[in-house]
Amino acid sequence: MPRWTLDVQSHVREEMLDITRQVEALVRNADSGIVTVFVPHTSAGVTINENADVDVQRDMLAWLAKLVPNDASFRHAEGNSDSHIKATLVGASAQVPLVDGRLLLGRWQAIYFCEFDGPRRRAVDVILGS
Ligand code: ZN
Repeated sequence: MPRWTLDVQSHVREEMLDITRQVEALVRNADSGIVTVFVPHTSAGVTINENADVDVQRDMLAWLAKLVPNDASFRHAEGNSDSHIKATLVGASAQVPLVDGRLLLGRWQAIYFCEFDGPRRRAVDVILGS
């Protein structure tokens, strides 16, 4: 099963990075199948959402922060329980159909790596299954 790993560098504690082009470049010469984008981290995730208006990403991060405040009284001693909870809310994987080397994303859809405890250097696995 073809598999690749992307290096992703986040720049602030919380951000959404569009990784669609990097994923596309990896699977461009493949035939068809299901592309799984998997984030092997516990304080980051991946989601598919709008790429047209950057305010959508800003609103998403702002509302996740309202849902899960950083200063809540968590037990986890590392001090990043909000990051873990946000990572679970967005999920660790996303699937996109691939047809003749083309990702079947909607016109306004992009694949976003979601950082919740940056800045960090992260890995994103891209797996092509049938
Ligand atoms: Zn932790």
